[in-house]
Amino acid sequence: MTFAATVLTLYPEMFPGPLGISLAGRALAEGRWSLDTVQIRDFAIDRHRSVDDTPAGGGAGMVLKPDVLAAAVDSVSGDVPVLAMTPRGKPLTQARVRELAAGPGVAVLCGRFEGFDERIFEGRAIEPVSIGDYVLSGGEIGAFVLLDACIRLLPGVMGAASSGEDESFETGLLEYPQYTRPVTWEGRTIPEVLRSGDHAKIDAWRKARAEEDTRLRRPDLWERYGGDPVLSPSGARQKIEE
Ligand code: SAM
Repeated sequence: MTFAATVLTLYPEMFPGPLGISLAGRALAEGRWSLDTVQIRDFAIDRHRSVDDTPAGGGAGMVLKPDVLAAAVDSVSGDVPVLAMTPRGKPLTQARVRELAAGPGVAVLCGRFEGFDERIFEGRAIEPVSIGDYVLSGGEIGAFVLLDACIRLLPGVMGAASSGEDESFETGLLEYPQYTRPVTWEGRTIPEVLRSGDHAKIDAWRKARAEEDTRLRRPDLWERYGGDPVLSPSGARQKIEE
């Protein structure tokens, strides 16, 4: 089954962009996924082909019009989930990526300017998704992120040797640190246990490092994993963002 990706954007010329090379590009050429772009401006209804207007209530910038967005979304064929890129959305997770990659495909609506008229989320079944707590100038880079994360999980894309199941977030932890040759680089040597050939010991070391690094770097993940709450230097429990 081909994973059908549709990107709704004011800049279709940006695609496939980085998704046209390496793993994703090869998978595209092999037909493991397909890519369609929809030019949102093609659905403008006035003679100036406007896609945006000034914000109700005042303020800077322009807002994408709901009538134009709805017509663009309605043009998407196939029964695929529609996701809209917005910093106001639910943060994208590896678990959601896995669900999407197991489905028929995805349509990604890319915002620009001040974003979408909120009524589009009431009028259509659209899932608002954020790729992180920072603001980009457009949703296209978010679409690259989402699609890349899905495509690498499609059957046959990574190959049998690498299922991705060991990787960060799959077990709720960050991955353990990785090393490769040379054994010694600038006086730093690969941990002895990784050169021991003792797979039980290696597994135990990797698990311990994955836990330690998650606890130190991502106390939010660590607590969700079931680890003891991480205390700040003052002894107060650190605030965990959900
Ligand atoms: N006014 C919006 C706000 O403060 O929430 C930001 C709009 S942003 C300048 C323009 C577009 O970039 C958004 O509509 C969205 O499509 C995309 N974008 C920006 N940051 C994003 C993020 N963290 N995740 C997903 N999309 C993002």
